[in-house]
Amino acid sequence: MAKKAFDHYKGIPDLPDDPRVKKSRPKIMAVVDEDNCTGCQACVPFCPVDCIEPVPKEKYGFPIPPVQVRFNECTGCQVCARVCSKLTWDAIRLMPTDTFEKVYGIKVD
Ligand code: SF4
Ligand code: SF4
Repeated sequence: MAKKAFDHYKGIPDLPDDPRVKKSRPKIMAVVDEDNCTGCQACVPFCPVDCIEPVPKEKYGFPIPPVQVRFNECTGCQVCARVCSKLTWDAIRLMPTDTFEKVYGIKVD
């Protein structure tokens, strides 16, 4: 991993060697608590695989919607949760993938 490019990830616990690479099935998933998310998008540019996006406006109907994670692209690297809790708010939960699948009825690849 290029050292300089990832300096801003220092301090992320158990950060994978290269957070851009998705292992076959991550152990944890990032889940945005949409009721708590301010929609500030501070976490968006930090996601190494660029899988955080605003929830479509139609779902909430207000100008700054919360964000959501495209679950099948998430590597479980935890960067977004750290960014949210340190820089802005506390709206991202890290959930074991097994629990995530049960709660949402989704199969993660
Ligand atoms: S940093 Fe936190 S509050 Fe801001 S958009 Fe991301 S999840 Fe929402
Ligand atoms: S844990 Fe967060 S930052 Fe890491 S890949 Fe998933 S959504 Fe992106």
